[in-house]
Amino acid sequence: MSKNTKAVVKKQAKTKASTKNTSANNRVAANYVYAFGKKTDGNATMRDLLGGKGANLAEMASIGLPVPPGFTISTEVCGYYYDNGRTYPASLSKSVLKAIKQIESQLGKSFGGRSNPLLVSVRSGARDSMPGMMDTILNLGLNDVTVEGLAEISGNPRFAWDCYRRFIQMYGDVVMGVQARSEEEEDPFHEILEKMKRKLKIETDSDLSTENLKTLVDQYKALIRKRTRSAFPQDVFEQLWGATSAVFSSWRNERAILYRQQYAIPAEWGTAVNIQAMVFGNAGDDSATGVAFTRDPANGEKVFYGEYLINAQGEDVVAGVRTPNAIAQLANELPQSYRDLEKVRNKLEKHFKDMQDFEFTIERGRLFILQTRNGKRTGLAAVRIAVEMQRERLMNQETALLKIPAESIDSLLVPVFDPKALKAAPVIGKGLPAGPGAATGRIAFTAATAEAETRKGNKVVLCRNETSPDDLKGMLHSQGILTLRGGVSSHAALVARQLGKVCICGASEIVINYEKKTLTAGKVVLKEGDYISIDGSTGLIYKGMIESADSEVKRVLEGSLKANKSYTYELFQTVMSWADKYRTLNVRTNADTPAMAKQAVAFGAEGIGLCRTEHMFFDGERIDIMRQMILAADEVQRRSALKKLLPFQKKDFVGLFKAMEGRPVTIRLLDPPLHEFLPHDDVVRRQLAEKLGVPFDFVIDRIKALHEENPMLGCRGCRLGIIYPEITEMQARALFEAAAQVSKGKKAIKIKAEIMIPLVGFRAELADQLKIVHRVAAEVMKKHKVKIDYLVGTMIEVPRAAITADEIAHEADFFSFGTNDLTQTTLGLSRDDMGLFYDQYQSKEIYNQNPFASLDQTGVGKLVDLAVERGRQTKPNIKLGICGEHAGDPMSIDFCHRAGLNYVSCSPPRVPIARLAAAQARLRNK
Ligand code: PEP
Ligand code: MG
Repeated sequence: MSKNTKAVVKKQAKTKASTKNTSANNRVAANYVYAFGKKTDGNATMRDLLGGKGANLAEMASIGLPVPPGFTISTEVCGYYYDNGRTYPASLSKSVLKAIKQIESQLGKSFGGRSNPLLVSVRSGARDSMPGMMDTILNLGLNDVTVEGLAEISGNPRFAWDCYRRFIQMYGDVVMGVQARSEEEEDPFHEILEKMKRKLKIETDSDLSTENLKTLVDQYKALIRKRTRSAFPQDVFEQLWGATSAVFSSWRNERAILYRQQYAIPAEWGTAVNIQAMVFGNAGDDSATGVAFTRDPANGEKVFYGEYLINAQGEDVVAGVRTPNAIAQLANELPQSYRDLEKVRNKLEKHFKDMQDFEFTIERGRLFILQTRNGKRTGLAAVRIAVEMQRERLMNQETALLKIPAESIDSLLVPVFDPKALKAAPVIGKGLPAGPGAATGRIAFTAATAEAETRKGNKVVLCRNETSPDDLKGMLHSQGILTLRGGVSSHAALVARQLGKVCICGASEIVINYEKKTLTAGKVVLKEGDYISIDGSTGLIYKGMIESADSEVKRVLEGSLKANKSYTYELFQTVMSWADKYRTLNVRTNADTPAMAKQAVAFGAEGIGLCRTEHMFFDGERIDIMRQMILAADEVQRRSALKKLLPFQKKDFVGLFKAMEGRPVTIRLLDPPLHEFLPHDDVVRRQLAEKLGVPFDFVIDRIKALHEENPMLGCRGCRLGIIYPEITEMQARALFEAAAQVSKGKKAIKIKAEIMIPLVGFRAELADQLKIVHRVAAEVMKKHKVKIDYLVGTMIEVPRAAITADEIAHEADFFSFGTNDLTQTTLGLSRDDMGLFYDQYQSKEIYNQNPFASLDQTGVGKLVDLAVERGRQTKPNIKLGICGEHAGDPMSIDFCHRAGLNYVSCSPPRVPIARLAAAQARLRNK
């Protein structure tokens, strides 16, 4: 090693260890570097330390798969790197040198050596894979000297110079930051390359001669010098540490942060760095590189799926710059390699017992496996693969259930294009079906436009030549993604599938002109903002908007399609029946109308956990009567309006009881800030005054009188029923009258009514309302000579209720956690006003998750635990549920299971997700 090299290593590995007190630093002779190859230190169980990629490379090496040797720098170093001003532990440089030496001796090559140079790749690898979100550098170790050595030893100067120009490009981009400066600008390296190709009038990169490549190298170096005012480094160890730091730093780049938020990956995990000997898919026509899936990741079918490029490097396939060939074609081009690959496919699935997504390279006919991971898949594929792998005895039901992300079930239920509308729609092109489903929206050519349009409330389809990881935000905002280049494992396809987005890629007949903002398909020219529709199951692209229709599963559930005609339904049913077998949490629904209730029952809801009665008063005639009630000057006037409301309310309850066919129905008493019902605009206020026969000024005065600065913390919840007991009385009467009606006669239904009092914080509040409910119940039962099975309980949605749950439980038959308000009041954070700071909080990763979407388990969760414990102290059998939005969120459901709740209650479409999540919670926490 040269003096200069040593100095660089020392400088890069310089540590503030002596002054900082981190756990990594305190360990004696900590091991930060894990080899794989002839000698392998790790295995598949060490994901936390080695990242998914490193752990699986070690595992593959130890089961005899052909993995090029290398080593992994552990995720602990990532933590250290950030805790210590982006420096490394003192012992790291020595360990890295040793590991490099091990590779050198296994391959007989030398790193930085002239005669047979060792080149390496430097890749990220987090505990959970984050495809394309962090940085990668290939061909590292090339410089003006080693490139000559590579040319000689390979007998192929063109190949050597091709590697060198690729390396400079990647290093310049990733490590030295030479990139496009705006979304409209081309990548500057790509621009130089294209300019040369245009000048030489050649089509593909492989037509560039050695001399051309040498010129490119010079031009790339000049570009780097111009942009960065420093030279592309010739020292291979400087290259190595530069690349390593770039990969660690990419853990905190914008897209990685966004991705982590999307998938709730904690920032503390960090990434590992994998350094591995390069093998070359670009060493000639007997060489290739590709990505393969052991099953189809788009629909889950058991077919060998993937693609490859002859004479290319891995990044060419994933970057989507060249459209690769389907894997089946390899059987003709390189038959022996194809057979080898098939063997690897089987071995990987049998060993890892899951669908694998693996990268391979064929170097002069010899197969190498560079990476394997559990393949990202669409929701549909997740379900199908789990069910079929269970049938193939690769896993049992419990494992199969745990393999399906609970949200995946949703993709079996989302709408498809209406078959009739589809027939009539003009097809304008075709691409590769990469993410199934139906998407219609306005064309957006940039991620920024996609985001801006969706913020305006428009639906968009993001259309790009190819996507890069920087487009993630735009993809999140789009209904679907259409790309012209790239195959089914391109970045667009991979990310779209994981996000559950509809995706078509490789639609190579279409032309996009970013400058003119047009998309041309044959004779059809569409502009940005025009409608386009894409079917990610067939790959067909349509002009205009297409109506969508219910999914097969929904059609079977509603009776318009026979169950045995739909394999998707069979999959759905299988998973749901397994889930019901294992879960202990009941699943109810939040429903305010009979139609919602029926849909939820079809999806498997076991009761209504929340009917928000205020939602029943918004429509038509009722709103005016409601307004009359609110504006009433005294109790007499108020009772007169309430009398008119009662029949409507009773009819609604009858509908709900009938739809639920004897399942428990939880009705919550009125809980809106009253002014929400009053008109905001003077014209409507005047009309209202006329309708009610009161002076306009009276209306205005009442509205003023009811105004609150903080209505969310004002006269709502039980406070309303306490100051206006006649409202509670009317609601209770309507409910018991409805119950009495449906529990009699030929089609009598056995009623299980649960009346819920909102926003209680004091035992006395609940006692006050309870008295009214019990009195009315007794009156109605006596009048109709029926016995109605009912419970009265409360919501726990303010901290005081949780803290005093032991007192409140004396009055309550049940508690239902209203975690929307409980989050609002515990965090002191308005449900409606997060907009101003939420983006900042996200990018600073202060909240791992939106606390209104996924329960803040360490904060709000503590209050839930406390209320459960104290409630049960007073009443061991008190029924406990949750009806806040969190009840449909799988992570929160896991919490509810652990907290010992009896049920979760979510919106109807989330019922299947909740059933599956409840089963997973039980299996995970056995
Ligand atoms: C809650 O606060 O969690 C709840 C379910 O009630 P609402 O959303 O109606 O306030
Ligand atoms: Mg509430």
